[in-house]
Amino acid sequence: MDGKISRRSFIKGSLAAAGAVAASSLAIPEAVKASSVEELATLIDIRKCIGCEACVEACQEVNAPKFPEPKKPFPKMYPSRVKVSDWSDKRDVMDRLTPYNWLYIQEATVKVNGKEEAYTIPRRCMHCQNPPCADLCPWGAAFKLKNGITRINADYCLGGSKCKTVCPWHIPQRQTGVGLYLDLLPSFAGNGVMYKCDRCYNRIAEGQLPACIDACPENVQKIGPRDEILKEAHAIQKEIGGYIYGEKENGGTNTIYVSPAPFEDLNKSLETGPGQPDMRPVKDSMAQADNLAKAMVIAPIAGLAAAAARFFVGAKKSMGSEENK
Ligand code: SF4
Ligand code: SF4
Ligand code: SF4
Repeated sequence: MDGKISRRSFIKGSLAAAGAVAASSLAIPEAVKASSVEELATLIDIRKCIGCEACVEACQEVNAPKFPEPKKPFPKMYPSRVKVSDWSDKRDVMDRLTPYNWLYIQEATVKVNGKEEAYTIPRRCMHCQNPPCADLCPWGAAFKLKNGITRINADYCLGGSKCKTVCPWHIPQRQTGVGLYLDLLPSFAGNGVMYKCDRCYNRIAEGQLPACIDACPENVQKIGPRDEILKEAHAIQKEIGGYIYGEKENGGTNTIYVSPAPFEDLNKSLETGPGQPDMRPVKDSMAQADNLAKAMVIAPIAGLAAAAARFFVGAKKSMGSEENK
């Protein structure tokens, strides 16, 4: 990791010296400002990424107020198979997804036209069009907004990791010692809260770009209405004889990667594992009969659970404000 940090500092220094264009000069698309109803997608052109990690740092900085502040010691869990997941003393980890790092840069080296090329690829939640994490969350804590963003509400999440299990890329990451489970069944349920990229939904609601897009000195990412983003992705693909990932994966996502190298080749070169997703072909997981049936069974239960959780959290907040009077 030290090597990674010094490489980042070097690239950032070089950029500053070269007088790189300030990212904040990017125009905010009108569609982003009026995005309360339109499904938005991002285009990630991996040819442009230089791996400087300015996006990763911006994500951490802007979203720090949303990060977990766990209470220690953690309650002992029964059964003990519900493992503690504690990243609170490893907040500087940047080479994988964690509850404190919702975006990271993957590296791949592949041959393009007989020449070896190295690519750096920003990875985070894909914001699926039909997200199994939201459809199968038993508590209604994970949900999709009309503008295509999938979120996990930290107030209602019990940290059972269902979202992570059913996500084809296992994106959400758990932190123990925070959340509703501490008030409900601290020794028997959940064990924390799940965290992932929320596409800076609060910035988008205010007409601002997501922090990672705003901070990128190379304009690697773009956000806009999904049909326009797809049109642009296909135009680039045609121009460079390239490949697209995210248009059809898991039935369609709102994160569209364009690459000059086949994703099959990139995938073989990626370091994958816990918190490090792959780029393999992914079938539409919610089209599978089993998951569809589960979603239909879960929907009313999740609705009731969400209503109960909202009532509980609301009552707790008003008790807190009474106590503070
Ligand atoms: S990538 Fe995973 S966490 Fe993100 S929306 Fe899709 S299923 Fe949910
Ligand atoms: S959209 Fe926001 S939360 Fe998601 S990776 Fe970018 S900066 Fe982080
Ligand atoms: S996406 Fe932009 S900010 Fe992020 S590593 Fe690549 S070049 Fe740097």
